[in-house]
Amino acid sequence: MLNNAVIESSFMTGQLSLDAVIIEAFKYNDGYIVITNNSPFYPKNYKWGDQKSDVGVIVFNNHELNIVKTYSAIFIDGKIYIDHDIPNKLNIEDKLIPAHYLESLNGLECQSIVGEKVKLSVDAETRHKVSAAHSMAHFMSLALNKAANKYWNKDYDTDSLGNYNLDKAAIFKSSISELKSIDTYRFGKSIKKKGFDKTSFLENIVSLNEEINLILKNWLATGSEVRVEYTSKDIENLRLWKSTVENHPVVIPCGGTHIKNTKEIQDVKVEIKPGESDEYIVIITHCKLR
Ligand SMILES: [Zn+2]
Repeated sequence: MLNNAVIESSFMTGQLSLDAVIIEAFKYNDGYIVITNNSPFYPKNYKWGDQKSDVGVIVFNNHELNIVKTYSAIFIDGKIYIDHDIPNKLNIEDKLIPAHYLESLNGLECQSIVGEKVKLSVDAETRHKVSAAHSMAHFMSLALNKAANKYWNKDYDTDSLGNYNLDKAAIFKSSISELKSIDTYRFGKSIKKKGFDKTSFLENIVSLNEEINLILKNWLATGSEVRVEYTSKDIENLRLWKSTVENHPVVIPCGGTHIKNTKEIQDVKVEIKPGESDEYIVIITHCKLR
């Protein structure tokens, strides 16, 4: 019976390509899922699907198949659950695995490819662009906290720079793709109760937008190393994003992928827009690579 124990995930090591064996392949939606015993592909988080998953290729014999998406999945009692179908409550021994989604097997049969030795390669350029957007989304959140610090009138949790963590208090949804992060923040009743003056904050949103851009420009000018610390190769294990801002070490828990240094970024621009109702704002962080 197939189980998660024989399947490894390696995206957190920074490895973009590796040799593996196909251990399962089956039809899924309009395409196919291929499971390998190891994978460098970053799978979409099934609970907080902020970062776009990896794309790339799987190569064996004379075949090169495109992987267009990577899901998180899990085997429980020999049955596989993918993405939204993963049960809410998992046992400690239940381990998430990457599930590669392909639109086509180029005419090959699922059963015939099981057991094949393959090379899996992540599309490095796409990964780099998504990682850039993810790292800059973290810097944006720190700049947002800094610029909005004056609107707090009660104590709340602070970030690594000692500013009240508005990002944590108000983040509603995040969507990170190539060179762009779209972060939606909600300013409802609960944030008011926490002691945040949302009325003044929203009235001053235009100057706040300018301030955030200025803060980010200054931070980028110095260049800082970025790294992700991991304690195991389990997908769901806690990982920490670490960098330096204004000579302070900054730490944000994060499961995604990141750049190695902000010097890789040529420019960043934040654009704050109204959301679907006046309780929401949308912050779009655009970045350019060197
Ligand atoms: Zn993150």
